[in-house]
Amino acid sequence: MLRLIKRVLAGLAVALLTLVTVIGFNTLRYTPEHVSEDAPVFELGADLEAATSNLSQAVKFKTISTEMTHPDFEDFLEFLQKTYPAVHTTMAREVLARKTPLYKWQGSDPSQAPILLAAHYDVVPIAPGSHDLWEYEPFSGVVADGFVWGRGTLDDKGAAIALLTAAEHMIQQGFTPKRTIYFAFGGDEEVGGLGAIAVTLHLKEQGVELDWMLDEGSFVLDKIIPGLEQPVASINLSEKGILTLELVAKAEGGHSSMPPRTTAVGRISQAVARLQDKPVPGGLNGISAEFFDSLGQHFPLGQRVVFANQWLFRPLLEKILSGAPSTDAMLRTTTAPTMLTGSSKENVLAAEASAKINFRIHPRDSIKDIVEHVRRTIDDPKVEILYDSERATPASPVSSSEAEGYAQIKSSILDAFGPLATVPGLTIAATDARHYGKAAKNAYRINPFKITGSDLPRIHGTNERLSIENLERGINFYGALLQKQ
Ligand SMILES: [Zn+2]
Repeated sequence: MLRLIKRVLAGLAVALLTLVTVIGFNTLRYTPEHVSEDAPVFELGADLEAATSNLSQAVKFKTISTEMTHPDFEDFLEFLQKTYPAVHTTMAREVLARKTPLYKWQGSDPSQAPILLAAHYDVVPIAPGSHDLWEYEPFSGVVADGFVWGRGTLDDKGAAIALLTAAEHMIQQGFTPKRTIYFAFGGDEEVGGLGAIAVTLHLKEQGVELDWMLDEGSFVLDKIIPGLEQPVASINLSEKGILTLELVAKAEGGHSSMPPRTTAVGRISQAVARLQDKPVPGGLNGISAEFFDSLGQHFPLGQRVVFANQWLFRPLLEKILSGAPSTDAMLRTTTAPTMLTGSSKENVLAAEASAKINFRIHPRDSIKDIVEHVRRTIDDPKVEILYDSERATPASPVSSSEAEGYAQIKSSILDAFGPLATVPGLTIAATDARHYGKAAKNAYRINPFKITGSDLPRIHGTNERLSIENLERGINFYGALLQKQ
């Protein structure tokens, strides 16, 4: 008996030792690729003072997307012509729908596929009642405390000015790219992107197939991801789609003193509750796995053990990541009930009740998949499921993180920012890239600016600003990227 116990214990010890060894081995192997700490940060040498003043000027144009007929749209394009003369004499320019200019910088080697670099210059309005909360007038472009202040600095005039500054400087220095480079500056990104659609159709009509394109859709995130000390450049490979479903239940109506056991409101409430209880399945595969796998390598040892041993810890990891809205959104199609209707009087039964559910579609799901999920989950044939197919947008295809374009964007980020973590990610909002991407093999999304958690509410919010240091990094990023072409 004693001998048996000893043998079992010995067996357990060997198993435990093997487990610890495997976990340890996986963790040691699971480290990010080495990034040289002492490579000098790339400096293009463009005039930063002039760039700062140009961004300040750019902010003054009230290119608010809800006021598309405002003369400032036209004036902004004229301002670009005056401010960047070398760009405008070297490149061909056409202004397409929604005052969206498309520039063509002819390359010297026609055998190379062209690329497109994009930004947008329309901005969201100042929210009613928030005007007094701004430290400086939102359209004054004040330069103070090391920042250019105002609506559009972060989203997305800063990127447009950084790109044009880099190009202007390089043309003056005699640079010609080998491949043809297009620039597009959307005039209505915030309200649907008809400008970007026009650019895409125009390129397709001319038989242009872009090798890759780059637009906004992420930033260099500084201490925004909990537990991660170093900044992370998330170069996003795809963006989520949008689908709003309307659930409708009809009933007899009548006075509330004699209600049936199930009312229209009750039916809709139950449907919403069922959807809330059963999220769309998701998890660590596809682009979600790629993102968290790359990210995990940069965590301190304690967390790295978990990411490195997903064969053992995946259920635990998925549970933790599903627990916070920001990481849950990276794992699955999200379900957000946003609107409800019922009766308009407290003592009248609703003849019709409805709910609107806003889904942000993960690239692994199609619109059909989501409608099917909802039908199965609600499991009530008396609830109609309606949607406007014109407005439903599928997630965009997932671009390759192995392709040349990704490598060039990544190395240009490292050139301009110095050592930091780079990961392939997913944009959870919508950008013009979803349109431009249709004319490109690969579409990538990042703005070359480093932001902290306190910057996030400034985007579309109050006190939007871009540091001059960031503007400089942005110019150097685009400079490094253009030099590779
Ligand atoms: Zn934007």
